[in-house]
Amino acid sequence: MATPQKQIFKGGSFLITETQPEGVFSPEDFTEEHRMIAKTTEEYLEKEIIPNSARIEEKDYELQRQLLQKAGELGLLGASIPEAYGGLALDHVSGMLISEYISGQGSFVTTFGAHSSIGTLPIVYFGTEEQKQKYLPKLATGEWVGAYCLSETGSGSDSLAAKTTARLNAEGTHWTLNGEKMWISNGAFADVYIVFAKVDGEKFTGFIVERNDPGVSHGAEEHKMGQRGSSTTPLILQDAQVPKDRLLGEIGRGHIIAFNILNFGRFKLGAGAIGGSKRVIEIAAKYAAERRQFNQPIANFGAIKYKLAEMAARTYVGESAVYRTAGLIEDRESTIDKSVPAEVLSAIEEYAVECSIIKVAGSEILDYCADEGVQIFGGNGFTSSYPVEAVYRDSRVNRIFEGTNEINRLLIPGMLLKRAMKGQLPLLQAAQKLQEELLAGPTFEEEDDSVLAVERKLVANSKKIALAVVGTAAQKFMTALDKQQIILCWAADIIIESFLIDSALGRTLKLVARDGEEKHQYAVLATRLYIHDAMSRIETAAKNALAATVEGDDLRVLLAALKRFTKFTPINTSAIREKLSDKVVEAGGYIF
Ligand SMILES: Cc1cc2nc3c(=O)[nH]c(=O)nc-3n(C[C@H](O)[C@H](O)[C@H](O)COP(=O)(O)OP(=O)(O)OC[C@H]3O[C@@H](n4cnc5c(N)ncnc54)[C@H](O)[C@@H]3O)c2cc1C
Repeated sequence: MATPQKQIFKGGSFLITETQPEGVFSPEDFTEEHRMIAKTTEEYLEKEIIPNSARIEEKDYELQRQLLQKAGELGLLGASIPEAYGGLALDHVSGMLISEYISGQGSFVTTFGAHSSIGTLPIVYFGTEEQKQKYLPKLATGEWVGAYCLSETGSGSDSLAAKTTARLNAEGTHWTLNGEKMWISNGAFADVYIVFAKVDGEKFTGFIVERNDPGVSHGAEEHKMGQRGSSTTPLILQDAQVPKDRLLGEIGRGHIIAFNILNFGRFKLGAGAIGGSKRVIEIAAKYAAERRQFNQPIANFGAIKYKLAEMAARTYVGESAVYRTAGLIEDRESTIDKSVPAEVLSAIEEYAVECSIIKVAGSEILDYCADEGVQIFGGNGFTSSYPVEAVYRDSRVNRIFEGTNEINRLLIPGMLLKRAMKGQLPLLQAAQKLQEELLAGPTFEEEDDSVLAVERKLVANSKKIALAVVGTAAQKFMTALDKQQIILCWAADIIIESFLIDSALGRTLKLVARDGEEKHQYAVLATRLYIHDAMSRIETAAKNALAATVEGDDLRVLLAALKRFTKFTPINTSAIREKLSDKVVEAGGYIF
């Protein structure tokens, strides 16, 4: 897939370039190795995890340790660990596939992710040679369990306001850590904690803390709405004695570790959420086919079909964005020396905007599916006798951790503008060019009756709308734009929708070009359905954002352009939904 000759796209550049469908990586491009890792993970889930679900939910941590070790034997914990330290050094697509397929048990997915992603990767990317040799082989086998300790009671979203301190003792042999970390996944049974503390109360820094270090203990389990089988406790550091060489990275550079690792967490969360959505579609479709009311399966009712079709279309679009992002990162990594951790990190950081997008979109798609899944199950959906009840509770936290969806929404236009200001992304030039186009008025357009021609135009227009909204707001508020959160969230919604529809359109056009429209008729339908609905959402968000930014003639010109960009003849989305839903029910699950 990733060849050095391939065009490498900068992060965020989807807004200012026309996407070439053949360059959009998608599940249809998986290699044999990718399929193998997906199959291994799926079998592990089905054989080891699902049968143990009740014990996992009862917080049987000894069992969870054993299950992690089993995952270690299968190579599932070492996907991102170099071979020299006992890992498999797999590509990011494989990492995404593990995240997608492991997500079938709502508690264990967090145990697994806290260990293999945020609990391990800081050492992979920031550890010294000695630290890597000591910790990574044991983390790869699951002999040791990892955890990541950033949040505190008073500092969640504002994580750099942490109060935990670290001081080097008089002998210069140990760091003394004091403070309390909060919400720590795997808190009760981890062996290795990545802890962020302020050296001398000022310099935010990473440390590797071991469970048996003097002064280290964990607090009581939180009583949670969902993911009840995953351990979530405070980590208490009372004059904790941490040997000097357990400093992680550099003093005062802990934020570089914390935020880079969150980029991984976000794209893996997006992949996991898509896996979860597919499972909801499967159980909801099967239930809808079996459950009879008014002498027929409820799957016959349009109101139910609407939901199943919407779940399928949203999941297809989300999946397209997730694997496209994995492909973008892989392509960039094909141009760097992967044995240099800093280069790998910068390849991922380049797509921080896309990682935030798939975190927000993935978690909201899963919540849509979980919510409507409960609805399809009716009263049964509200009881723990049916699996959708747990999905509904377990999925909710995805919008809260790895940076809340509000924080990620604010980051999306924020990071794009920062890049534009630094000259890394010619966003403002594109906005300027767009303004000239707007002033010039409508242009004559040639008829195009090729497949998804209308949608191609709409996707291109969605990018123009995003540019117009972001550009106008940046011009109006300048450095005070970060105070305009409501406008920024509308801008984020437009950018998110734009990336989603661009990714789905690219994937579908690629598939149609490869195999013809007939073979991918349902992908074409899902793409059309989602794009048409998304354009209405984009239009509303843009109207609100523009009206909150400019007034008078300026507003009139922009609204006229918006009207032009969002003008399309409505299509029969009812018929599309019927077709999609019928196919989902016939297949008994996700159809793409
Ligand atoms: C089950 C679970 C497991 C977790 N696991 C871990 C873990 O392993 N390690 C770890 O370090 N942390 C973990 N967390 C903590 C998690 O990352 C935080 O809960 C999250 O970052 C939000 O912080 P908070 O809870 O303090 O909410 P707050 O930051 O208080 O936010 C409350 C609300 O205000 C909004 N808000 C806050 N600041 C802003 C702003 N500037 N602008 C706009 N809106 C804002 C938020 O979006 C949110 O809606 C876990 C949490 C849970 C629930």
